[in-house]
Amino acid sequence: MPGKRVAHLRAHGGPPAPRVARPAADVAPEPGRDCPRCPRLVAFRTIWREREPTWFNAPVSPFGPPDARLAIIGLAPGLRGANRTGRPFTGDYAGDLLYATLGEHGFARGHYAARPDDALALVDCRIVNTVRCVPPENKPTAKEIATCRDFLKGEIARMTRLCTVVALGRIAHDSFVAAMGGRQTAHRFSHGAVHAIGDLTLYDSYHCSRYNTNTGRLTATMFSAVFAAVRARLDATDCGAAATDP
Ligand code: SF4
Repeated sequence: MPGKRVAHLRAHGGPPAPRVARPAADVAPEPGRDCPRCPRLVAFRTIWREREPTWFNAPVSPFGPPDARLAIIGLAPGLRGANRTGRPFTGDYAGDLLYATLGEHGFARGHYAARPDDALALVDCRIVNTVRCVPPENKPTAKEIATCRDFLKGEIARMTRLCTVVALGRIAHDSFVAAMGGRQTAHRFSHGAVHAIGDLTLYDSYHCSRYNTNTGRLTATMFSAVFAAVRARLDATDCGAAATDP
């Protein structure tokens, strides 16, 4: 797999390095259906609740077992995908590629039918979005990303066996690094890169959006290679074992 390990270097005599570690437990509980924190997203949500009252139209909760060793961090719900169905990556093109790839590498079982009541189950992995509410044109603002980071931090803190993270795209990567207290300059996003951040290992991938695959930026083969590397690491190490075998 193309990739590189990005070391976290600290210059002697320089300012003290930030503490890079998992957030404290219970940074934030899960957001409620009417989370008021991002006014622009609340307004967008309100419009779509009126327009499509049968859709989910609320912050989308993570999907997958909380004791998973792998977390996949996406960007935000797609308007007609997770925002409609209420499950991450469910109902749009990105989900077709993601769930097929997860199944290929043993992180999902059952049939994905693009609806939350299908028989799909995730295995040792959990999907969480950087921003829980659908943003207009799929573009959350920097402030919305920072505001919703409290919930990302809470998720990281509560996943006690977590040892490996896949960031889908630069925004997910940057928000995860920030959630861990890492320096962005020490951990630049690059497809295929692998970063050691605190006690976690972060793998970068381009987002599996239709745009990225249509333009050839990300192919199914490239995407599969990222999860093959994650699979190999999880199979070769006992990461996550400490939390279950005290
Ligand atoms: S994006 Fe996150 S913080 Fe903002 S309103 Fe939705 S759940 Fe709340």
